[in-house]
Amino acid sequence: MKSEERVPVLIVGGGLVGLSTALFLEYQDIPYVLVERRVTRSVLPRARGMHTRAAEMFRQVGLQGRIQEVAATVLKSGHFGGASRGRSVCEAAALDFGGRSAAAGKPGGPMGFTNDPSPANFVFVPQVLLEPVLEEAARERGGELRFGNELVQFASDDDGVTATLRDQDGMVSTLRADYLVAADGAGSPIRQALGITGWEVAPTRYYINVFARVDLTELLGGRSFSQCDIAGDGVRGVVLCKNNTDEWSFHIEYDPARETLADYPPERCVAVVRAMVGDPDIAVEVLAQSAWDTGSFVADEYRRGRAFLAGDAAHRHMPWGGFGGKWRAAAGKAGRDTGVEIAVHALPATDCADHLHLPDGGALLLRPDMHVAARSDEGLTPAWLDESLRLLTDSANAAAPQRFAAGSILD
Ligand SMILES: Cc1cc2nc3c(=O)[nH]c(=O)nc-3n(C[C@H](O)[C@H](O)[C@H](O)COP(=O)(O)OP(=O)(O)OC[C@H]3O[C@@H](n4cnc5c(N)ncnc54)[C@H](O)[C@@H]3O)c2cc1C
Repeated sequence: MKSEERVPVLIVGGGLVGLSTALFLEYQDIPYVLVERRVTRSVLPRARGMHTRAAEMFRQVGLQGRIQEVAATVLKSGHFGGASRGRSVCEAAALDFGGRSAAAGKPGGPMGFTNDPSPANFVFVPQVLLEPVLEEAARERGGELRFGNELVQFASDDDGVTATLRDQDGMVSTLRADYLVAADGAGSPIRQALGITGWEVAPTRYYINVFARVDLTELLGGRSFSQCDIAGDGVRGVVLCKNNTDEWSFHIEYDPARETLADYPPERCVAVVRAMVGDPDIAVEVLAQSAWDTGSFVADEYRRGRAFLAGDAAHRHMPWGGFGGKWRAAAGKAGRDTGVEIAVHALPATDCADHLHLPDGGALLLRPDMHVAARSDEGLTPAWLDESLRLLTDSANAAAPQRFAAGSILD
């Protein structure tokens, strides 16, 4: 057994949130050690979109350019956005979202927030491409990233955390940290060991995520979509774009009472993918698989003593809207007869950055984390600002904000 080493922060988990935490700590000059039990990078695309607030935070740590460079290489055809529905991809018709759909391809991001005063934008950058950028940047900046290292046990006291780590050769070591960040994913063994309970919404849908190489270029004939809902004979699910040509995620709906991931060997996945595409002969190569569901969970505490929960360990959401990789919960929705509308999503997202529309068309950005951004030429008075902040603050104090139903009217 090696001797004990000491660090200010131990991050457990080298996924999207653990790597982000590393960069934000480095930005504050706080040394850390990050341990990740995987040796290789994940190939399964999950998160695809990064909202404005997350993009702003990466901008702050000097990564905007690098992320945009990678993002520019992702789509091989078409643009990101739009949805279709049909019995198969072949037969699917585009859904009409009016203005929002039309805004999908405009500069300024697919969310179409044209009045957004932020210097950053929504970015389409799949998690599998973003994580390597974060990892490389953290290493370049002197970060201590240890892949192939697992936290096997820890004990927390008033002054810190003692962690037992095991590397891929089975070598066990002890590390003493002032603080522990649990970025160890949705199941979070650390959260469970701490006994932190949470608020849960049971899943309504279960999916097998099959990431596959299948060239739909000819079949789509220039059409593109972010997602395509499939309801065909004996197959239901969603197809999500990765590069708009030959890499797609097929989310196959299944019944967990009758089946598990093990019931979907590659040959069955190939058959289901062909059915979803609507071409029985198309070449399909299965690249990765996993199971997921639409359940949500929000931990009752994000901190216990010297340990913090971050990312999926603290909150897990349905992927729709793309808020999983973010860091906070949101408020509700408030309307006023003054022409002010604060529409704060009932989904966790620091960057849901909703707009408070002023009668003259100006926009004030209010975020559930109380960040406020406004252009100087909007003629905002302190009274407008005070009132807006009071509304948000009242909303946030009235109850656990993440428990508001979508669209709740709070005033
Ligand atoms: C289909 C789908 C689509 C999604 N789309 C979006 C989207 O568009 N936008 C968005 O923001 N989110 C999206 N999400 C959610 C997003 O993928 C997750 O919120 C995100 O991956 C959470 O990151 P994390 O770092 O908290 O956890 P994870 O990515 O799960 O990483 C946890 C890491 O911890 C490691 N680990 C666990 N235990 C230990 C241990 N004891 N020792 C060492 N290492 C350990 C694991 O190996 C793992 O690498 C989507 C999810 C799905 C399923």
